[in-house]
Amino acid sequence: GMGEKVEAKEERIMVSVRMRPLNGRESGDSSDWECISPTTVMFRSTVPDRAMFPTAYTYDRVFGPNCSTRQVYEEGAKEVALSVVNGINCMYRRNASIFAYGQTSSGKTYTMTGITEYSVMDIYDYIEKHPEREFMLKFSAIEIYNEAVRDLLSHDTTPLRLLDDPEKGTTVEKLTEETLRDKDHLRDLLGMCEAQRQIGETALNEASSRSHQILRLTIESSVKQYLGKGKSSTLVSCVNFVDLAGSERASQTASAGMRLKEGSHINRSLLTLGKVVRQLSKGRNGHIPYRDSKLTRILQSSLGGNARTAIVCTMSPAHTHIEQSRNTLLFATCAK
Ligand code: ADP
Ligand code: MG
Repeated sequence: GMGEKVEAKEERIMVSVRMRPLNGRESGDSSDWECISPTTVMFRSTVPDRAMFPTAYTYDRVFGPNCSTRQVYEEGAKEVALSVVNGINCMYRRNASIFAYGQTSSGKTYTMTGITEYSVMDIYDYIEKHPEREFMLKFSAIEIYNEAVRDLLSHDTTPLRLLDDPEKGTTVEKLTEETLRDKDHLRDLLGMCEAQRQIGETALNEASSRSHQILRLTIESSVKQYLGKGKSSTLVSCVNFVDLAGSERASQTASAGMRLKEGSHINRSLLTLGKVVRQLSKGRNGHIPYRDSKLTRILQSSLGGNARTAIVCTMSPAHTHIEQSRNTLLFATCAK
Protein backbone atom coordinates (compact mmCIF):
# COMPACT_ATOMS: atom_id res chain seq x y z
CA GLY A 1 0.00 0.00 0.00
CA MET A 2 0.94 3.64 0.21
CA GLY A 3 2.72 3.36 3.54
CA GLU A 4 5.05 0.83 2.04
CA LYS A 5 5.97 3.10 -0.85
CA VAL A 6 6.77 6.06 1.34
CA GLU A 7 8.96 3.91 3.53
CA ALA A 8 10.74 2.48 0.50
CA LYS A 9 11.57 5.91 -0.84
CA GLU A 10 13.10 7.01 2.40
CA GLU A 11 15.60 4.20 2.54
CA ARG A 12 19.05 5.50 1.85
CA ILE A 13 21.73 3.91 -0.21
CA MET A 14 23.47 1.13 1.69
CA VAL A 15 27.16 2.02 1.73
CA SER A 16 29.93 -0.24 2.94
CA VAL A 17 33.70 -0.24 2.73
CA ARG A 18 35.87 -3.30 2.21
CA MET A 19 39.60 -3.14 2.82
CA ARG A 20 41.45 -6.02 1.21
CA PRO A 21 44.63 -7.51 2.71
CA LEU A 22 48.04 -6.18 1.59
CA ASN A 23 49.10 -8.11 -1.50
CA GLY A 24 52.51 -9.48 -2.48
CA ARG A 25 53.65 -6.27 -4.14
CA GLU A 26 52.62 -4.22 -1.11
CA SER A 27 54.02 -6.53 1.53
CA GLY A 28 56.77 -4.11 2.57
CA ASP A 29 54.34 -1.21 2.73
CA SER A 30 52.76 0.28 5.82
CA SER A 31 49.10 1.03 6.34
CA ASP A 32 47.51 4.16 7.75
CA TRP A 33 44.14 2.48 8.11
CA GLU A 34 42.59 0.50 10.88
CA CYS A 35 39.11 -0.97 10.94
CA ILE A 36 38.26 -0.13 14.54
CA SER A 37 34.62 -1.30 14.57
CA PRO A 38 32.11 -2.97 12.25
CA THR A 39 31.14 0.49 11.00
CA THR A 40 34.29 2.59 11.34
CA VAL A 41 37.63 2.83 9.64
CA MET A 42 40.24 5.05 11.23
CA PHE A 43 42.93 7.01 9.44
CA ARG A 44 46.08 7.43 11.48
CA SER A 45 48.95 8.77 9.44
CA THR A 46 52.16 6.77 9.44
CA VAL A 47 53.99 10.09 9.01
CA PRO A 48 55.02 10.67 12.66
CA ASP A 49 54.16 14.35 13.12
CA ARG A 50 50.77 13.88 11.49
CA ALA A 51 49.86 10.79 13.48
CA MET A 52 48.41 13.06 16.16
CA PHE A 53 45.22 13.71 14.22
CA PRO A 54 43.35 10.51 13.54
CA THR A 55 40.15 10.71 11.49
CA ALA A 56 37.25 8.29 11.79
CA TYR A 57 35.09 7.40 8.77
CA THR A 58 31.76 5.73 9.50
CA TYR A 59 29.52 3.75 7.10
CA ASP A 60 26.72 1.19 7.28
CA ARG A 61 29.40 -1.48 7.41
CA VAL A 62 33.18 -1.60 7.31
CA PHE A 63 34.84 -4.90 6.39
CA GLY A 64 38.47 -5.35 7.37
CA PRO A 65 41.13 -7.44 5.59
CA ASN A 66 40.07 -10.62 7.40
CA CYS A 67 36.41 -10.47 6.39
CA SER A 68 35.22 -13.01 3.85
CA THR A 69 33.25 -12.14 0.74
CA ARG A 70 30.45 -14.21 2.27
CA GLN A 71 30.33 -11.74 5.16
CA VAL A 72 30.47 -8.74 2.81
CA TYR A 73 27.52 -10.22 0.93
CA GLU A 74 25.48 -11.11 4.02
CA GLU A 75 25.87 -7.74 5.69
CA GLY A 76 26.48 -5.37 2.81
CA ALA A 77 24.42 -6.58 -0.15
CA LYS A 78 22.00 -9.43 0.60
CA GLU A 79 19.11 -7.30 1.76
CA VAL A 80 19.29 -5.20 -1.39
CA ALA A 81 19.76 -8.19 -3.72
CA LEU A 82 16.78 -10.03 -2.25
CA SER A 83 14.52 -6.97 -2.32
CA VAL A 84 13.76 -7.89 -5.94
CA VAL A 85 12.04 -11.10 -4.88
CA ASN A 86 10.85 -10.22 -1.38
CA GLY A 87 8.71 -7.43 -2.81
CA ILE A 88 6.85 -9.97 -4.91
CA ASN A 89 4.98 -11.21 -1.84
CA CYS A 90 3.17 -7.95 -1.42
CA MET A 91 2.66 -7.55 -5.16
CA TYR A 92 5.20 -4.84 -5.23
CA ARG A 93 7.80 -4.56 -7.91
CA ARG A 94 11.23 -3.33 -7.07
CA ASN A 95 14.56 -3.10 -8.87
CA ALA A 96 17.97 -3.14 -7.26
CA SER A 97 21.57 -2.29 -8.05
CA ILE A 98 24.73 -3.38 -6.30
CA PHE A 99 27.96 -1.60 -7.17
CA ALA A 100 31.62 -2.20 -6.51
CA TYR A 101 33.44 1.14 -6.46
CA GLY A 102 37.16 1.66 -5.95
CA GLN A 103 40.53 2.14 -7.60
CA THR A 104 41.97 -0.47 -9.91
CA SER A 105 43.32 -3.49 -7.98
CA SER A 106 41.38 -2.63 -4.82
CA GLY A 107 39.20 -5.76 -5.09
CA LYS A 108 36.07 -4.74 -7.03
CA THR A 109 35.94 -7.78 -9.30
CA TYR A 110 36.91 -10.15 -6.50
CA THR A 111 34.10 -8.78 -4.35
CA MET A 112 31.42 -8.43 -7.02
CA THR A 113 31.98 -11.92 -8.43
CA GLY A 114 31.27 -13.39 -5.01
CA ILE A 115 28.29 -11.14 -4.33
CA THR A 116 26.76 -12.12 -7.68
CA GLU A 117 27.16 -15.83 -6.99
CA TYR A 118 25.71 -15.64 -3.48
CA SER A 119 22.81 -13.49 -4.66
CA VAL A 120 21.92 -15.90 -7.42
CA MET A 121 21.99 -18.85 -5.00
CA ASP A 122 19.69 -17.03 -2.59
CA ILE A 123 17.29 -15.97 -5.34
CA TYR A 124 17.06 -19.58 -6.53
CA ASP A 125 16.46 -20.67 -2.92
CA TYR A 126 13.62 -18.20 -2.68
CA ILE A 127 12.08 -19.53 -5.88
CA GLU A 128 12.26 -23.12 -4.63
CA LYS A 129 10.47 -22.09 -1.45
CA HIS A 130 7.62 -20.44 -3.39
CA PRO A 131 6.12 -23.16 -5.56
CA GLU A 132 2.83 -21.26 -5.70
CA ARG A 133 4.44 -18.78 -8.04
CA GLU A 134 5.76 -19.28 -11.49
CA PHE A 135 9.14 -17.68 -12.13
CA MET A 136 11.01 -16.87 -15.26
CA LEU A 137 14.59 -15.62 -14.98
CA LYS A 138 16.47 -13.80 -17.69
CA PHE A 139 20.06 -12.78 -17.84
CA SER A 140 21.93 -10.15 -19.82
CA ALA A 141 25.41 -8.71 -19.56
CA ILE A 142 27.04 -5.62 -20.97
CA GLU A 143 30.28 -3.76 -20.81
CA ILE A 144 30.55 0.01 -21.21
CA TYR A 145 33.92 1.06 -22.54
CA ASN A 146 34.51 4.70 -23.55
CA GLU A 147 30.73 5.19 -23.61
CA ALA A 148 30.32 2.31 -26.08
CA VAL A 149 27.99 -0.49 -24.97
CA ARG A 150 28.99 -4.05 -25.82
CA ASP A 151 27.06 -7.29 -25.36
CA LEU A 152 29.09 -9.70 -23.22
CA LEU A 153 26.95 -12.65 -24.31
CA SER A 154 27.72 -12.11 -27.97
CA HIS A 155 30.94 -12.37 -29.94
CA ASP A 156 29.83 -9.41 -32.02
CA THR A 157 31.71 -6.40 -30.67
CA THR A 158 29.67 -3.77 -32.53
CA PRO A 159 28.57 -1.09 -30.07
CA LEU A 160 24.87 -1.27 -29.23
CA ARG A 161 22.51 1.69 -29.26
CA LEU A 162 20.28 2.77 -26.41
CA LEU A 163 16.59 3.15 -27.08
CA ASP A 164 14.05 5.07 -25.05
CA ASP A 165 10.96 2.98 -24.51
CA PRO A 166 7.96 4.84 -23.06
CA GLU A 167 7.11 1.86 -20.84
CA LYS A 168 10.39 0.12 -20.11
CA GLY A 169 12.56 3.22 -19.98
CA THR A 170 16.00 2.99 -21.57
CA THR A 171 16.78 -0.34 -23.21
CA VAL A 172 19.79 -1.64 -25.10
CA GLU A 173 18.99 -2.42 -28.71
CA LYS A 174 19.67 -6.02 -29.89
CA LEU A 175 20.99 -7.06 -26.49
CA THR A 176 21.09 -10.82 -25.91
CA GLU A 177 18.72 -11.84 -23.15
CA GLU A 178 19.03 -15.47 -22.15
CA THR A 179 16.09 -17.20 -20.49
CA LEU A 180 17.64 -19.28 -17.73
CA ARG A 181 16.96 -23.00 -17.55
CA ASP A 182 18.61 -23.49 -14.18
CA LYS A 183 21.48 -22.46 -11.91
CA ASP A 184 24.04 -24.28 -14.04
CA HIS A 185 22.94 -22.40 -17.12
CA LEU A 186 23.53 -19.12 -15.30
CA ARG A 187 26.90 -20.33 -14.05
CA ASP A 188 27.92 -21.03 -17.66
CA LEU A 189 26.83 -17.56 -18.73
CA LEU A 190 28.73 -15.91 -15.89
CA GLY A 191 31.82 -17.86 -16.98
CA MET A 192 31.31 -16.65 -20.53
CA CYS A 193 31.14 -13.01 -19.40
CA GLU A 194 34.30 -13.42 -17.38
CA ALA A 195 36.09 -14.93 -20.38
CA GLN A 196 34.88 -12.13 -22.66
CA ARG A 197 36.13 -9.54 -20.26
CA GLN A 198 39.48 -11.21 -19.75
CA ILE A 199 40.10 -11.22 -23.50
CA GLY A 200 39.74 -7.46 -23.33
CA GLU A 201 42.16 -7.22 -20.44
CA THR A 202 45.05 -9.00 -22.10
CA ALA A 203 44.47 -7.37 -25.48
CA LEU A 204 44.36 -3.92 -23.98
CA ASN A 205 46.03 -3.54 -20.65
CA GLU A 206 43.87 -0.77 -19.30
CA ALA A 207 40.53 -2.21 -20.37
CA SER A 208 39.29 -3.33 -16.99
CA SER A 209 40.25 -0.07 -15.33
CA ARG A 210 38.25 1.85 -17.93
CA SER A 211 35.22 -0.34 -18.42
CA HIS A 212 32.04 -0.95 -16.45
CA GLN A 213 30.41 -4.36 -16.39
CA ILE A 214 26.70 -4.67 -15.72
CA LEU A 215 25.21 -8.12 -15.17
CA ARG A 216 21.43 -8.03 -15.00
CA LEU A 217 19.13 -10.70 -13.67
CA THR A 218 15.49 -10.09 -14.55
CA ILE A 219 12.84 -11.93 -12.56
CA GLU A 220 9.34 -12.34 -13.90
CA SER A 221 6.75 -13.96 -11.70
CA SER A 222 3.07 -14.66 -11.49
CA VAL A 223 0.76 -16.74 -9.28
CA LYS A 224 0.33 -20.18 -10.85
CA GLN A 225 -3.38 -20.51 -10.23
CA TYR A 226 -4.95 -17.19 -9.65
CA LEU A 227 -8.30 -17.79 -7.92
CA GLY A 228 -9.06 -20.34 -10.63
CA LYS A 229 -9.19 -17.54 -13.19
CA GLY A 230 -6.05 -18.24 -15.18
CA LYS A 231 -2.81 -16.39 -14.66
CA SER A 232 -2.36 -13.35 -12.47
CA SER A 233 -0.55 -10.35 -13.81
CA THR A 234 3.18 -10.76 -14.18
CA LEU A 235 5.52 -8.84 -11.92
CA VAL A 236 8.90 -7.93 -13.31
CA SER A 237 11.90 -6.80 -11.33
CA CYS A 238 15.62 -6.84 -11.89
CA VAL A 239 18.87 -6.77 -9.99
CA ASN A 240 22.03 -5.30 -11.48
CA PHE A 241 25.52 -6.32 -10.43
CA VAL A 242 27.84 -3.53 -11.44
CA ASP A 243 31.63 -3.80 -11.47
CA LEU A 244 32.68 -0.21 -12.10
CA ALA A 245 35.70 1.22 -13.87
CA GLY A 246 38.60 2.12 -11.59
CA SER A 247 37.65 5.15 -9.49
CA GLU A 248 40.96 6.84 -10.40
CA ARG A 249 39.10 7.55 -13.66
CA ALA A 250 36.92 10.11 -11.94
CA SER A 251 38.59 11.28 -8.79
CA GLN A 252 41.47 13.19 -10.35
CA THR A 253 39.13 15.70 -11.95
CA ALA A 254 36.39 15.50 -9.39
CA SER A 255 38.69 16.36 -6.50
CA ALA A 256 40.97 18.87 -8.18
CA GLY A 257 38.27 20.53 -10.28
CA MET A 258 40.50 20.28 -13.33
CA ARG A 259 39.25 20.81 -16.85
CA LEU A 260 38.31 17.74 -18.85
CA LYS A 261 41.31 18.19 -21.10
CA GLU A 262 42.17 14.56 -21.51
CA GLY A 263 38.85 13.17 -22.59
CA SER A 264 39.96 9.57 -22.77
CA HIS A 265 41.41 9.63 -19.29
CA ILE A 266 38.19 10.64 -17.62
CA ASN A 267 35.29 8.29 -17.42
CA ARG A 268 32.04 10.05 -18.17
CA SER A 269 29.84 7.26 -16.83
CA LEU A 270 31.73 7.10 -13.55
CA LEU A 271 31.69 10.85 -13.10
CA THR A 272 27.95 10.98 -13.82
CA LEU A 273 27.22 8.07 -11.50
CA GLY A 274 28.96 10.01 -8.74
CA LYS A 275 26.76 13.05 -9.40
CA VAL A 276 23.58 10.94 -9.50
CA VAL A 277 24.45 9.12 -6.27
CA ARG A 278 25.24 12.39 -4.49
CA GLN A 279 21.91 13.88 -5.64
CA LEU A 280 19.98 10.80 -4.56
CA SER A 281 21.63 10.72 -1.15
CA LYS A 282 20.70 14.35 -0.55
CA GLY A 283 17.03 13.67 -1.17
CA ARG A 284 14.93 13.53 -4.28
CA ASN A 285 14.66 17.21 -5.06
CA GLY A 286 16.27 18.84 -8.03
CA HIS A 287 17.53 17.57 -11.32
CA ILE A 288 19.24 14.18 -11.34
CA PRO A 289 21.54 13.91 -14.39
CA TYR A 290 20.71 10.31 -15.36
CA ARG A 291 20.81 11.17 -19.03
CA ASP A 292 24.41 12.41 -19.02
CA SER A 293 26.00 8.97 -19.39
CA LYS A 294 25.29 5.51 -20.76
CA LEU A 295 25.72 3.83 -17.39
CA THR A 296 23.22 6.05 -15.60
CA ARG A 297 20.72 5.92 -18.48
CA ILE A 298 20.79 2.12 -18.46
CA LEU A 299 20.45 1.98 -14.68
CA GLN A 300 17.93 4.80 -14.25
CA SER A 301 15.02 2.52 -13.35
CA SER A 302 17.23 0.66 -10.88
CA LEU A 303 18.51 3.74 -9.06
CA GLY A 304 16.54 6.08 -6.85
CA GLY A 305 12.76 6.04 -6.58
CA ASN A 306 11.61 2.68 -5.24
CA ALA A 307 14.78 0.91 -6.26
CA ARG A 308 17.28 -0.28 -3.68
CA THR A 309 20.98 0.42 -4.01
CA ALA A 310 24.05 -0.95 -2.28
CA ILE A 311 27.57 0.30 -2.91
CA VAL A 312 30.57 -1.65 -1.72
CA CYS A 313 33.62 0.60 -1.81
CA THR A 314 36.84 -1.36 -2.03
CA MET A 315 40.23 -0.06 -0.96
CA SER A 316 43.83 -1.12 -0.58
CA PRO A 317 45.31 -0.77 2.89
CA ALA A 318 48.71 0.27 1.48
CA HIS A 319 50.28 3.63 2.24
CA THR A 320 51.22 3.88 -1.44
CA HIS A 321 47.53 4.17 -2.34
CA ILE A 322 46.62 6.67 0.32
CA GLU A 323 45.29 9.36 -2.03
CA GLN A 324 43.02 6.98 -3.92
CA SER A 325 41.83 5.34 -0.71
CA ARG A 326 40.95 8.70 0.71
CA ASN A 327 39.06 9.63 -2.47
CA THR A 328 37.14 6.37 -2.25
CA LEU A 329 36.15 7.05 1.36
CA LEU A 330 35.06 10.58 0.45
CA PHE A 331 32.89 9.15 -2.31
CA ALA A 332 31.42 6.65 0.16
CA THR A 333 30.67 9.47 2.60
CA CYS A 334 28.90 11.48 -0.11
CA ALA A 335 26.82 8.45 -1.08
CA LYS A 336 25.39 8.18 2.46
P1 ADP B 1 39.84 -4.59 -9.19
O1 ADP B 1 38.73 -5.34 -9.85
O2 ADP B 1 39.35 -3.52 -8.25
O3 ADP B 1 40.84 -4.03 -10.16
P2 ADP B 1 40.59 -7.21 -8.25
O4 ADP B 1 39.28 -7.68 -7.73
O5 ADP B 1 41.00 -7.72 -9.57
O6 ADP B 1 40.64 -5.61 -8.27
O7 ADP B 1 41.68 -7.51 -7.15
C1 ADP B 1 43.06 -7.32 -7.37
C2 ADP B 1 43.82 -8.54 -6.83
O8 ADP B 1 43.67 -8.61 -5.42
C3 ADP B 1 43.30 -9.84 -7.38
O9 ADP B 1 44.40 -10.70 -7.56
C4 ADP B 1 42.38 -10.36 -6.28
O10 ADP B 1 42.29 -11.75 -6.30
C5 ADP B 1 43.05 -9.84 -5.03
N1 ADP B 1 42.06 -9.52 -3.96
C6 ADP B 1 41.17 -8.53 -3.99
N2 ADP B 1 40.45 -8.46 -2.87
C7 ADP B 1 40.88 -9.46 -2.09
C8 ADP B 1 40.53 -9.93 -0.78
N3 ADP B 1 39.57 -9.34 -0.05
N4 ADP B 1 41.21 -10.98 -0.29
C9 ADP B 1 42.19 -11.57 -1.00
N5 ADP B 1 42.57 -11.18 -2.23
C10 ADP B 1 41.93 -10.13 -2.79
MG1 MG C 1 38.34 -5.59 -11.91
